[in-house]
Amino acid sequence: MELQFSRHRKLRSSANMRALVRENHLRAEDFIYPLFIYEGENVRNEVSSMPGVFQVSLDHLQAEMEDIVAHGIKSVLLFGIPKTKDACGEQAYHDHGIVQEATRFIKEKFPEIIIVADTCLCEYTDHGHCGVVKGEQILNDQSLELLVKTAVAQAKAGADIIAPSNMMDGFVAAIRAGLDEAGFTEIPIMSYAVKYASAFYGPFREAAEGAPQFGDRKTYQMDPANRMEAFREAESDVAEGADFLIIKPGMPYLDIVRDVKNNFNLPVVVYNVSGEYSMVKAAALNGWIDEKKTVLEMLIGMKRAGADLIITYAAKDAIRWLKEDE
Ligand SMILES: [Zn+2]
Repeated sequence: MELQFSRHRKLRSSANMRALVRENHLRAEDFIYPLFIYEGENVRNEVSSMPGVFQVSLDHLQAEMEDIVAHGIKSVLLFGIPKTKDACGEQAYHDHGIVQEATRFIKEKFPEIIIVADTCLCEYTDHGHCGVVKGEQILNDQSLELLVKTAVAQAKAGADIIAPSNMMDGFVAAIRAGLDEAGFTEIPIMSYAVKYASAFYGPFREAAEGAPQFGDRKTYQMDPANRMEAFREAESDVAEGADFLIIKPGMPYLDIVRDVKNNFNLPVVVYNVSGEYSMVKAAALNGWIDEKKTVLEMLIGMKRAGADLIITYAAKDAIRWLKEDE
């Protein structure tokens, strides 16, 4: 009997053959590295749930940035941990807020580095929510005003990209109008367009010290069960003037990444979040998985799903490992 079948293994016969037909690649330029800037002095705290990730004060930022540049990272995403918090998150939009100070420092010393400013209030509010709170309600339109102020303060300090993350309705429209009015027509918006209310954010809340003090974020972040809602969220952000679309988290939402990639013509950014990072670290520290292979597989999976860019705490490791394999 003559069997009819395809010989797919022809294209897997050697490392060079596999490299020849490889469809997706990871490059240093693909990564955006998150940084936690701590207001204070002589701080370089490793986040206990995120080994290898540090909160750093401004006096340690020079060394941190030198390390980042040495690795070949071109873009950083800044989060701030302020000394004082209040109901309205004033340190988010104060001219001398910690992210604005860090932005000025990096722009002066490392002008070629792209600074993406996370535009939110939760690290700066005493209640830990991403907007203005009345009773137990998170008020949408009142929150927009403060977000606009934050975005303009960040742009004034020198941020290259504004990345609003709080999932209030109309945040892209409001920030675009606010930036334009302040003269920042050339500053793009990287919108957290599709952000799910995820358990995978747990370790980040330790790193950024911004856990909500009551309730949860389910009235503004999305239900993990929903797909059509992702289209509605992305569509409105595109209509409002977004320049990049973020999907967050990454691994459990790669179907959504592909949906967004297929249906919108903007750069797609995946946020490989803290919980995803910590799970791999924990397993690797126990000797249960091969960290290098697992992380690189996770990241290439995001590219294959449609990511143009990946925000990841593993950026330094990934670039180092990619170089090892060259
Ligand atoms: Zn927030």
